[in-house]
Amino acid sequence: KIYNELQELKGNIRVYCRIRPFSSSKAGKPTIVDYIGENGELIVTNPSKPGKESHRTFKFNKVFGPASSQEEVYLDTQPLIRSILDGFNVCIFAYGQTGSGKTYTMSGPNGSSKENLGVNYRALNDLFHISQTRKNTITYEVDVQMVEIYNEQVRDLLTNNDGPQKKLDIRNASQQNGLVVPNANVRSVSSTADVVELMTHGMMNRAASATAMNERSSRSHSVLSVRVRGTDLKTNASLNGCLHLVDLAGSERVNRSEVTGDRLKEAQHINKSLAALGDVISALSQKSSHIPYRNSKLTQLLQTSLGGRAKTLMFVQMNPDVESFSETLSTLKFAERAS
Ligand code: ADP
Ligand code: MG
Repeated sequence: KIYNELQELKGNIRVYCRIRPFSSSKAGKPTIVDYIGENGELIVTNPSKPGKESHRTFKFNKVFGPASSQEEVYLDTQPLIRSILDGFNVCIFAYGQTGSGKTYTMSGPNGSSKENLGVNYRALNDLFHISQTRKNTITYEVDVQMVEIYNEQVRDLLTNNDGPQKKLDIRNASQQNGLVVPNANVRSVSSTADVVELMTHGMMNRAASATAMNERSSRSHSVLSVRVRGTDLKTNASLNGCLHLVDLAGSERVNRSEVTGDRLKEAQHINKSLAALGDVISALSQKSSHIPYRNSKLTQLLQTSLGGRAKTLMFVQMNPDVESFSETLSTLKFAERAS
């Protein structure tokens, strides 16, 4: 009860900051992390440039330091997963510059052992597990879509042909309970393994048209939408919930003088859609009467799971090293608008 009241006060948006460990090449270098508080305080300092501009205090719902395990990071997410099965829409995404650990948090490292599995897998496991425990009162049907947004075009990642995809339209979100891309494939699933198989397939499609997978994946947003439809066995009443799991494009600002052509276009589209996302989240957290969903494909796609009764969880990913200080500061400022 207290939890629910708190959530209402917070406008249903939670922001967790996660600081990744130093990569081995940076081991032993100074850190910009000055202080991590129990209650989500974070102080960052640039040790190579002392002064006012290089010392900032932030406050989030929680801060996970470099030693945090995947399990710890997921722990508070479980109540959100339960609420999907109660008919709520939930959106979980990771924001940060390329290399800050977005994919690590959401999916886990490549070929991960069980203990390093990311939020996606844990959320799906809980979703199917909790639905099983209710099977004598409610039956659930689950289906998924997976799309990417690249250069403001929506593409289906669950197709069988590798060729260029036709761009898809987004339909007025309110009608479809989260599955808002009518012409993208929808696959029915009944276990985490089913979803993982589709995600693997989707990731391969994401890479198919790119020269290097990492290159491409840092420049597009991927959205896995899991729709849950429950039927109460006694009353026949139905309920719908939807989970969006989002791996955002890298938030790094691109030096305009250094990029041209396709790279510049990509960068402009990414900046535009992340800015639109920031505007929506900021409007929601200020309880503004106008929420500007229509300014990007990303916010249109996520509309049903941002705002209203929906619950949003943002992982703000950051590097602890000095070289990333200015990118990290802009990441933290983005996140601050939401909290
Ligand atoms: P992003 O998706 O933001 O570009 P990645 O998740 O791919 O970043 O992370 C970059 C590298 O850092 C990967 O090799 C990843 O395994 C590693 N990494 C990121 N976060 C952590 C962490 N918390 N613990 C250990 N390794 C991490
Ligand atoms: Mg990534």
